[in-house]
Amino acid sequence: MKRVLGLIFSLFCSPLFSQTGVNTFEYCGHDSLVVEAKRNDPVAYEQWEEEYKKMALKARVQRRGFVSDTTFTLRVVFHVLYSSNIENLSDALIRSQLKVLNEAFGHYHEDTADLRAIFKDRAGDVGIRFELATVDPNGNTTNGINRRATSVTSFGRNRSDVKFTADGGVDAWDPTRYFNIWVCDLSSGGFDNLLGFATPPSTHPFWSATGSGAYPLSEQGAVLHYKVVGVNNPLANQVGSRPLKGRVAVHEVGHYLGLRHIWGDGTNATGCSVDDFIKDTPNQRRSSNFVCQKTNNTCFTANDEPDLVENYMDYSGDECMVMFTTQQKSIMREAITKYRPNVVAKTDVINQYIRDDFTALFKVYYNPNGGLRIDVNDDKRSSYSFILYNMAGQKISDSTPLTQTRQDVNFGNHADGLYIIQIINNSTDELMLTQKVQHFN
Ligand SMILES: [Zn+2]
Repeated sequence: MKRVLGLIFSLFCSPLFSQTGVNTFEYCGHDSLVVEAKRNDPVAYEQWEEEYKKMALKARVQRRGFVSDTTFTLRVVFHVLYSSNIENLSDALIRSQLKVLNEAFGHYHEDTADLRAIFKDRAGDVGIRFELATVDPNGNTTNGINRRATSVTSFGRNRSDVKFTADGGVDAWDPTRYFNIWVCDLSSGGFDNLLGFATPPSTHPFWSATGSGAYPLSEQGAVLHYKVVGVNNPLANQVGSRPLKGRVAVHEVGHYLGLRHIWGDGTNATGCSVDDFIKDTPNQRRSSNFVCQKTNNTCFTANDEPDLVENYMDYSGDECMVMFTTQQKSIMREAITKYRPNVVAKTDVINQYIRDDFTALFKVYYNPNGGLRIDVNDDKRSSYSFILYNMAGQKISDSTPLTQTRQDVNFGNHADGLYIIQIINNSTDELMLTQKVQHFN
């Protein structure tokens, strides 16, 4: 399989030139994958598109706004492949990349303010975070950065080789449990044309094992050109004049979690008739081609919105891309629960108090040892009890009056899924808090 993919990739990794003869960036290899998969297996492609449309439709009817029940934290390993010392990026640079991912998916980086006012109501925390793995697949302690010297000076021509030790790369850590990010030299012919690429979920119909565009589990993850990783990468100035703020990785994680490009991957000629099926991203004819032009409106109809160049799934450039939309958020979160549930290292709970004046009284959050934890900031803790329900409304656990200011709530052998926890005032029977929680074993 990987040999076949190697050949497919090689079609797309020659240095690319625009009609004016200026060397241009491919930015990410997603388009190549989509085009190739559609060509090789139109039926599988159609299945994928149908599935994607369903997810997008579902996203539309979900509650507007950015109130999340849970925050998913993904377990990440960076594989750093280097054939020279300069490619062996420092821990600090890798950690800065992780920070950028968390800021982007939490929407708390400084330049969120640059988002135009008309789009602000659809931006926010998408409830996804990232942490470096602390245990490797063999059970050994790790810092989540796996370094490997290689004799391969560039993986630009045979991109999938980076994912196999036998080909000079390094094998993935169990992709059902780790989000693998390979960092390597992706140049080809001396050009830094390709900055990264990522696989959509492997069990997605589009990428099923029967389709010739299939992406095997062993290749699941993202690949980043070493010059675009992290903040203040000393090599970034070799990749063009645009500031690089670690957002190539954000874009690729979007693909890894099932998103398509904001312009729907249409060409300039057909672009306005090709959609990404996401309603809260305005119709866009083509990629912004590394220009942050906020007056662009490439598919103009009366009263429509301008192009959303601030979106991470455009190609407008790191200085411009600052947000995911509400519906993109829904798709990514569904991709996690449906296709990548065990890559989740932990889930945290965002509280939904029924009365604001209780927010200082209780805190329900994820217990690092499993289950939940309730902190009661009240010396009258014995006045309260908790009850845990499954989504069928059956009580699966409860407490007699809380005995401690920190109470652990265990799910026992109950299956993964959504549950409801409530806190009751014992003397008045008043419902103090009700909250939906996601449980993973
Ligand atoms: Zn892309």
